[in-house]
Amino acid sequence: MTVSQPPSTDQALGVIPAPVPLAALVDRAQAGFEDRFGRPPRWIAAAPGRVNVIGEHTDYNDGFVLPMAIERYVVIAADRPQPTSRPMPICMSSSAFETAEWLSPDDASSERLPPWARYVLGVLVGCRSQGMQAGPLDMLIDSNVPLGGGLSSSAALEVATATLIEAVTGRSLPPVEKALLCQQAEHRFAGVPCGIMDQFSSVFGRRDHLMLLDCRSTEITSVPLTDPQVHVLIINTNVKHELTGGEYAERRGQCELAAKRLGVASLRDATWDLLADHSAALEPVLARRARHVIGEIERTVQAAEAIAAGDWKQMGQLMAASHDSLRDDYEVSCRELDLLVELAGQQAPGAVIGSRMTGGGFGGCTVSLVSSEHLETVAHAIHEGYRNQTGIVPSLFTTRPAAGAHVVVG
Ligand code: ADP
Ligand code: MG
Repeated sequence: MTVSQPPSTDQALGVIPAPVPLAALVDRAQAGFEDRFGRPPRWIAAAPGRVNVIGEHTDYNDGFVLPMAIERYVVIAADRPQPTSRPMPICMSSSAFETAEWLSPDDASSERLPPWARYVLGVLVGCRSQGMQAGPLDMLIDSNVPLGGGLSSSAALEVATATLIEAVTGRSLPPVEKALLCQQAEHRFAGVPCGIMDQFSSVFGRRDHLMLLDCRSTEITSVPLTDPQVHVLIINTNVKHELTGGEYAERRGQCELAAKRLGVASLRDATWDLLADHSAALEPVLARRARHVIGEIERTVQAAEAIAAGDWKQMGQLMAASHDSLRDDYEVSCRELDLLVELAGQQAPGAVIGSRMTGGGFGGCTVSLVSSEHLETVAHAIHEGYRNQTGIVPSLFTTRPAAGAHVVVG
């Protein structure tokens, strides 16, 4: 059984590993299931991670985001259990963790479960409230979305679970409801008050398209990204600095407070003039947060237009301004992310179109648009520069915008 494709000679020499096709990951999940449960699975579902090209920390402010699904997936293989007595109806393992977990959608108390299993339980409970009873299942989770790297492995896990339950029950949720159900699972069971971007990206991902998502109306405008000269390069700092884990909720609270002080429902409704009118009374930290959100929403809409027009110069400037704003006004960057962006900026003219931190911040990944003829040189230079200056080996990969969640077998 195929586990992964051997890298081609060219790619093996560079720092960008050959991509693992979804089919190979599916094979691996299938083999993992057979190893664990002694028979082949009956259903397999897959859901992608995502990278946000621009529009950071705007989703929970009712603003715009411009993400794409990536060619990295959570895959879940499942079958009805053998007819033996079981402590609970669902038994699941993940290749990322050692233990097998038992759970039941009828027992929504998640405290006894390890954090990773709570995402799955949350979705099972949400599906059950929609009348979609999963019934007894053996489940095996495999994935090549890095965990905690800002590429949304958590949403991929939730959406893969919901997609699996659709296959098992033979009922489909309306896609918007499915994304919202998964978001609720993350809020209520993982305690993360996330916006809607991650789950929408995983559900609505479309090959070769970015999605301009209006997080207020949930309207999606597809933006083709098909220029063969432009590659999306993701670089993982391989660090995570969150001190308390509460930074995300803190930023969210500051935005809500800033909106209240400005007299608007959310920062989506704030304008530069309104901010200027309140500048004397608003605490400096709230003014900085608002400045980021107002500017980032503008930049995101402009970025969708720039990509559609093939205006890569403008796109590069917008990405640079986004990073500066996240570093200085929103204060969610870190030394390693800044270094990767600086190194990208030092490459030959025209080699890197734009580069910025992506995801929540404090570590995780940068996203860069790189011209194809310079891809290997750029990747190598940034890899070496980062390793020399930090002592940490970064992980790099390229991806095209990928298809969203789907049932693979079922
Ligand atoms: P991100 O979504 O950016 O990767 P999060 O902290 O939001 O980071 O989510 C990461 C968490 O999601 C992991 O710590 C784990 O609990 C859960 N998770 C993600 N992928 C898997 C997986 N393949 N198996 C089990 N749990 C996973
Ligand atoms: Mg997440």
